Amino acid sequence: MATITTTNEARDEQDLRRTLRRRGQRVTSQRLVIHRALVELGRHVTAEEVFGAVSQRLPGISRPTVYATLDLFDELGIVRRISPGEGPILYDPRVGDHSHLVCRRCGAVEDLDVTTDATRALAAARRRGFEPHHAGLAINGLCARCAKADNPEPSALP
Ligand SMILES: [Zn+2]
Ligand SMILES: [Zn+2]
Repeated sequence: MATITTTNEARDEQDLRRTLRRRGQRVTSQRLVIHRALVELGRHVTAEEVFGAVSQRLPGISRPTVYATLDLFDELGIVRRISPGEGPILYDPRVGDHSHLVCRRCGAVEDLDVTTDATRALAAARRRGFEPHHAGLAINGLCARCAKADNPEPSALP
């Protein structure tokens, strides 16, 4: 059953500090800056985009540090790692339950505020010894812009 939810905001810095400490992880300025960049970008971003934003603020930061921090954030539930199947892996600052629309032509990934009840799928995964982090629905197809390019309305023709 699908339900509509309200927007889940990205986690704030206090929440980040708390989560890191609770999981025995150090609160470092690098981690704080990477988190702030994710929140400010506020959309699905590649690790490269995060690295670009972060290296302006912390010129000495290395690519492996950014990549490793993003994976740590994913493990801690601070960011959601999504592999849309088309194009590169993306990091989503919205960790609340929501679904994705993935365009197979231009690679755009949009949020869809619909949640799916994956309880049974998660239980089946656990029975097979799989440790699920989260389950989400991804709808693959053509985004509105690409679909329109395929079927232009008469008024849109030159
Ligand atoms: Zn598209
Ligand atoms: Zn999303």
